[in-house]
Amino acid sequence: MDMLPKCPANYTPLTPITFLKRAALCYASRASLIYNHVQFTWNQTYDRCRRLAYSLQALNIAKNDVVSVLAPNVPAMYEMHFAVPMAGAVLNTINTRLDAKNIATILKHSEAKAFFVDYQYLPQAVEALRLLIEGSKASPTAANSPIPLVVVIDDVAQPTGTRLGALEYEELVLNGNPEFEPVEVTDEWDSIALNYTSGTTSAPKGVVYSHRGAFLSTMSLVLQWQMKSEPVYLWSLPMFHCNGWTFTWGVAARGGTNVCIRNTCASDMYHAIVQHKVTHMCCAPIVFNILLEAKPNERRDLVAPVEILTGGAPPPAALLEKIEALGFHVTHAYGLTEATGPALVCEWQTQWDKLPNESRAVLKSRQGISVLTLADVDVKDLNSMASVPHDGRAIGEIVLRGSSIMKGYYKDPEETARAFRNGWFLTGDMGVIHPDGYLEIKDRSKDVIISGGENISSVEVESVLYRHPRVLEAAVVAMPHPFYGETPCAFVSLRKSLSASEREVKEADIISYCRKNLSHYMAPRKVVFSNDLPKNANGKIEKFKLRELAKKYSTS
Ligand code: ADP
Repeated sequence: MDMLPKCPANYTPLTPITFLKRAALCYASRASLIYNHVQFTWNQTYDRCRRLAYSLQALNIAKNDVVSVLAPNVPAMYEMHFAVPMAGAVLNTINTRLDAKNIATILKHSEAKAFFVDYQYLPQAVEALRLLIEGSKASPTAANSPIPLVVVIDDVAQPTGTRLGALEYEELVLNGNPEFEPVEVTDEWDSIALNYTSGTTSAPKGVVYSHRGAFLSTMSLVLQWQMKSEPVYLWSLPMFHCNGWTFTWGVAARGGTNVCIRNTCASDMYHAIVQHKVTHMCCAPIVFNILLEAKPNERRDLVAPVEILTGGAPPPAALLEKIEALGFHVTHAYGLTEATGPALVCEWQTQWDKLPNESRAVLKSRQGISVLTLADVDVKDLNSMASVPHDGRAIGEIVLRGSSIMKGYYKDPEETARAFRNGWFLTGDMGVIHPDGYLEIKDRSKDVIISGGENISSVEVESVLYRHPRVLEAAVVAMPHPFYGETPCAFVSLRKSLSASEREVKEADIISYCRKNLSHYMAPRKVVFSNDLPKNANGKIEKFKLRELAKKYSTS
């Protein structure tokens, strides 16, 4: 046996590009993508991607060059997930909610050779480029501040009718060669994507994925979400978020139809779901509120259940119960940029079907067990690196290892080394393991509230607040206290549909509601009502800002 080579001669490296090639054969005339009245088949998508890859090469984009894109969920954004790696380059999707300064930082750090911009984001892009040019003039000796080629993406369904830039997306597609053969992936560890973290807890870092990691993560997610062939997938999750949790590649793997919408507002989502008979969608729990709070004229009854994969933030059990009552069926996953999206999935057990709705929602709100691509997931005491007991009580840090973990942070060996210990990736999330092996997040390490020596999980307090019938959103943070050290302070926004009299909720009502449903020491001592909780570019509540605000309310 030992005489055999490590792998056969001419071994074909794993890459998600093969999903597109296969879809073009197997599902040639099936709809690959729908956007307003524009519709493509898998054959056409393959053709368009080959043409674009050719044009990229003609623009001197070479192997390992970074191609950045700032665009919503439009056809071009989808196609670039294949065309850029087909040209041998690395795709860098940029969060559209970032400001010009952050965009400039990413362009500079990634040394992007080309920058594709949707027309809607031209103002931020132009300002970012101005900052980039200014920065390179200020330090002319800096080798790493090239100005990328700019390609403008007009709206393919409703073109603006004016020329927006010297290089335009549809022209690159049109002038490309449909016979172009994708640049060979010689090593499956070659990079395919570069995604910057949103920087909730530290400065943004460039997370690099390999073709192999992307391929395996895609395979495991379509399998674990039991995505049958020919799904109709609604793009409610931004593709810039971990490459749409790999479903950019996954929909091709299943020969599905991508339903693209420019805005994730309630009316567009409901309309698309009903019109195109959507079967699957992914979103952060915050999108549940958009669907639940839809006005009667925006809402549509679902004809068939829609599968939702949710993650990115803890979905409170109360919210899961409400969204499922509308006809959505939710699978809960936990993940992070460094793990190519979902790392844990709350695998449903059929024996739980018999339980009452409330208990099912509580089980579903747990983060679950590892995805198939991870060799191991554990909760450890980081001082000893010993595993915590599986008793649902002992808290430790969630650590991961396996094939879906990033290659590392781009040009940052120090941060890469810090992110791992003994081969384990340290998530920075604190959790417990239940006796059935399912993990549950208690907090991010920075968000745990330590009150009189007791750890209070802000997530646990928030899940009670979300059960309050008038609460829309809740975030609980530590407030300094002279005796206990810290106590919980809750920031709460009320449901927008409430009448004026229903909005007259008192702080004391909320506190007593929490005291009824939690151990007393866990109940907030202060409740602040706010219509607008601060959120980052991924729509996550910015607790560090709330912690600063909470200091103001600190009393004895
Ligand atoms: P950032 O770390 O900048 O917020 P990510 O998008 O990578 O960017 O977010 C990952 C973090 O989001 C995780 O470390 C975790 O704290 C949180 N998270 C993701 N999914 C869940 C979930 N299902 N439940 C609780 N927290 C989650």
